[in-house]
Amino acid sequence: MVLPLKQTTLYGPVNSRRYGKSLGINLMPCRYKLCSFNCVYCHFGWTDKRTLDVSECAADLPGFDDVVREVEQAAKSSLDFGLFTFSGNGEPTLYPRFVELVDAVRAIRDRYRPTARVALLSNSSGLGRDDIRQCMAKIDLPVLKLDAGTAKGFRAINRPAPGIGFEATVDHLRSIDDIYIQTVLVDGYPSNTSPDDLAAYFEKIAQIKPQEVHLYSIDRPVPETRLQLVPPERLREIAAQGERETGVPMRAFCKN
Ligand code: SF4
Repeated sequence: MVLPLKQTTLYGPVNSRRYGKSLGINLMPCRYKLCSFNCVYCHFGWTDKRTLDVSECAADLPGFDDVVREVEQAAKSSLDFGLFTFSGNGEPTLYPRFVELVDAVRAIRDRYRPTARVALLSNSSGLGRDDIRQCMAKIDLPVLKLDAGTAKGFRAINRPAPGIGFEATVDHLRSIDDIYIQTVLVDGYPSNTSPDDLAAYFEKIAQIKPQEVHLYSIDRPVPETRLQLVPPERLREIAAQGERETGVPMRAFCKN
């Protein structure tokens, strides 16, 4: 069984393998899955509405003032967390007032939890917009997805909505400083771990020059049942190879 969608705007705090305790902020609907991608490994299952244009779904998104109020209440509370993380049921940057919301959350952070950081887990599809790209500089921990080194691999693994180009996405990632790249590697079908796949992917990473790359494989049920986990030892080998070939620090995150 894939995971059910989150039913609230705020969730957690979640104890993340990478960053510690994080308050999750979900800006997408709770009744159906809205995303600009339909990744074969998504632990929420297949995307119900795959689009870059959420105007038809506006009534299903949380209200701006409600989100701000809830985040402020959590920031003032005794909840134990050191990160405000935009993540949740789909792609956070699809939220129409995302940039304003980042400003509001930063102001809340400054007022109530000055040592906390603001993080974003994004599939990178919003970077085609100037305002979203510029907004990355305001996020302490921008973690952006890249799962493939070719347009063919991108289409097979991420199944993006029309209008999202692979090369354009890589160009946008290259244009932003101080980002983290998150990558999910999968064996089986489709896969992104053949020698050719990895060579193309490392080439893009070398061009993007992120602060760090975080590699994962699947650790939960996924919608595409022909996928297979990349074993932890292999994931670590890929990370070591990638680091050697790109000069970018690469870390494998495995459950064991
Ligand atoms: S981008 Fe994230 S939420 Fe959207 S389909 Fe892919 S894994 Fe799921």
